[in-house]
Amino acid sequence: MAETTTPSQVLFEGGALVDGTGAARRDDTDVLLEPDRIVAVGPDAAGSAAPDVQRLDVRGCTVMPGLIDAHCHITFGEPASNDELFFHRPASTAMLVAAFNVPKLLRAGVTGFLDADCIHDLGPALRDGIEAGLVEGPRMTSGLNALLTAAGGTAGRLIPDGGQLGYAHVMGDRDEIVRTTRQQVKYGADWIKIHVTGSVPNHRGELTVWSLDELRAVTDTAHALDTPTIAHCRSAESTRLAAEAGVDLILHASYLDEAAVEAVVEAGSAIAPTFTFLANLVDHGAAVGAMTTQVDIFRGELEATAAMVRTAYDAGVPLLCGSESGFSLTPYGHWHARELELFVDLLGLTPLEAISCGTRNGALALRRPMDSIGVVVPGAAADVVVVDGDPTADISLLGDRRRLRHVVSRGRPVDLDRPWPTRSPLAGEAVGVWSRQLLTREVVQP
Ligand SMILES: [Zn+2]
Repeated sequence: MAETTTPSQVLFEGGALVDGTGAARRDDTDVLLEPDRIVAVGPDAAGSAAPDVQRLDVRGCTVMPGLIDAHCHITFGEPASNDELFFHRPASTAMLVAAFNVPKLLRAGVTGFLDADCIHDLGPALRDGIEAGLVEGPRMTSGLNALLTAAGGTAGRLIPDGGQLGYAHVMGDRDEIVRTTRQQVKYGADWIKIHVTGSVPNHRGELTVWSLDELRAVTDTAHALDTPTIAHCRSAESTRLAAEAGVDLILHASYLDEAAVEAVVEAGSAIAPTFTFLANLVDHGAAVGAMTTQVDIFRGELEATAAMVRTAYDAGVPLLCGSESGFSLTPYGHWHARELELFVDLLGLTPLEAISCGTRNGALALRRPMDSIGVVVPGAAADVVVVDGDPTADISLLGDRRRLRHVVSRGRPVDLDRPWPTRSPLAGEAVGVWSRQLLTREVVQP
């Protein structure tokens, strides 16, 4: 009986290379991979290969690092409303659904991601399950619940006044902030997430709901335990305060102003603006029956934020790509690469620059040393994708799964030939809506 053995090495031959470092695309550059390591790049690669190497002809394609999504909610399960997210996702169900969804990321070319706040604190167990081979998925770093104050986060009065619900852990006094931060590190958090702004009924936009002192209580405690912090900031003031408190990675940074950019530069923080969610809502929301009453506000937020994020980029602030996948407007496996496209369209970056933001800069999200992952250079982690065509000429290729020829994770090829995973709705998972408008007498008797 013939034994099937997995080759220990993979050699991509004849493709062009975009190595993620920002270097220009190089034609005809071979790449040799083995489990967890890129062995050789360029003319030496074929000569360094083991006899049983798997040779793959990739002429006409581009070899590049796998994408790293710095903002992905793998445990949310694509809810269409906060009601579903907070009240229709029991922990056991949520974990099964997350395990069903996480392989989709890999099959969309995402070889690493950060989920900074998960419901029911599920993230670290999922991360460890992926690492142990229980579930197929990209490399993952994880937070637990996001830390909120009693003023809330992005779900208004659904957020309780204290305790935990969904993705939220509501803080009281400084002692509770310090204790919870320490507990999160104990229970496996790679990152501590803070919701610095929240939506409060009767207020336009999000309000800053943390003080500088409270933010420092988180960052000082986390940093003392060798753990970075990440913050949801949808105002200039919140971005400035987060940077002043020493937050390592700022999400959204909406309506950034000069003072906030200065604080971010001074602190050495990075930004993951996460344009994709808003852009999906603005561009495609109507097609799926989304609430479109605020489309003009969101379009304004995108434009105002993009101009200042560009200023921050020019001042040397590292930008990461995050898609906010995990909602009905950003289902898993579909939109991870759109953020790179938006970096080109909204920020005016070159496709090559956008690729470095979506690959190399993601090392921060994965808590790996710079240039040890997210780049195709000898010695780096063997997370590589092969795309049909030239993404430096057309960045939108990265969002088209049909153009994805190969995905290699940790040196092992991922099977892209299987059908895309599909499933039926679970009992109690979705919230029904009685009607879209009131059934008044006038509707039936005009
Ligand atoms: Zn988010």
